[in-house]
Amino acid sequence: MGGIFRNPQSAIRNLVLLGIVTLIFPHGSHAQTEKAGFFRQSRILMGTSMEITVSQVDPKTAEKAMEAAFQEVERINRLMSHYRPDSEVSQISRHAGKKEVRVSPETLEVIERALYFSRLSGGAFDITIGPVFRLWNFREGKIPDGEKLRENLKRVDYRRIRVDRSRSTVYLDDPRMDLDLGAIAKGYAVDRAGEVLKKRGVENFLVNAGGDLRVGGRKEKEIPWTIGIQHPRLPSDLIVKIQSKNAGIATSGDYEKYFLKDGERYHHILVPSTGLPARECQSVTILSSTAMDADALATTVFVLGPKKGFALIEEMPNVHALIVDRRGSVRLSPKWPDGVLLPP
Ligand code: ADP
Ligand code: MG
Repeated sequence: MGGIFRNPQSAIRNLVLLGIVTLIFPHGSHAQTEKAGFFRQSRILMGTSMEITVSQVDPKTAEKAMEAAFQEVERINRLMSHYRPDSEVSQISRHAGKKEVRVSPETLEVIERALYFSRLSGGAFDITIGPVFRLWNFREGKIPDGEKLRENLKRVDYRRIRVDRSRSTVYLDDPRMDLDLGAIAKGYAVDRAGEVLKKRGVENFLVNAGGDLRVGGRKEKEIPWTIGIQHPRLPSDLIVKIQSKNAGIATSGDYEKYFLKDGERYHHILVPSTGLPARECQSVTILSSTAMDADALATTVFVLGPKKGFALIEEMPNVHALIVDRRGSVRLSPKWPDGVLLPP
């Protein structure tokens, strides 16, 4: 999956292919069963298949809560998608070098969090990647022209985003800069969906946006939610399963949007200093307290590679990483918690 905010047309095509919206009642449960139910619904949102599963709740509460959660994701997408010309993020880019743009507290929060991870990683994570990312065409398998790449790299620099917190404004220093929240906003939207579910009385849920997840409570009374982590080179296999409650979990991989050329794999996670795909990992899974942090850190650690990535994770409380390195070995950050990992 992946490809947050991918162009809406392809999202619509996927929507049709997937049969639009599915409402599944596993175990053939009927709407009025005595036993608290288990419900799942998925929709195409933010360019990916967004799936919400809830359990131990009555059908009416489930249906209303899921509807509200999907609407919340749509609202976040309207604020932060760079594919929508009317979004706040697009407005910031359109007014780059001209004037500051007033934004909602939420857009400000996500941009500030992105800047936090940029500073922490010395620029491995950078939401000004837009002008360089735009040069890549993964569908047609074209490597950008070197001259163009060098030119557009001059516009990539998170230090040139100016945030005025008290006035809730964002300004880009150079008219050719372009924001891309593709590596963090989907995680934020997943967190928001989880909050809406909780507010509507759903304690046990799993929200999955193509590999960015938020889990709450348990699947069944004594059984936690279990998440399969895809094998980076064998798409129908899992490398491990993760068992967790109340966490954000996100995976970034080089197998989501990529092409192969002359034996090299070119994919969608770029090193901001070179504009080229990061080479040290096949996939990175982050376990954190929010999906937003997990999403951003999965990309960050992917760019940094195992050595620097693990060093960064070690400094952060309650954050853990599982890396499949470039050779395909699975490696865990030193404080990886017991009982979380299961065999596939
Ligand atoms: P996925 O979209 O597969 O979930 P990520 O969360 O890793 O994967 O986000 C990748 C997206 O983030 C890219 O499609 C691009 O829009 C953007 N991006 C690529 N490289 C970086 C980077 N170094 N820092 C910030 N954003 C990036
Ligand atoms: Mg990410």
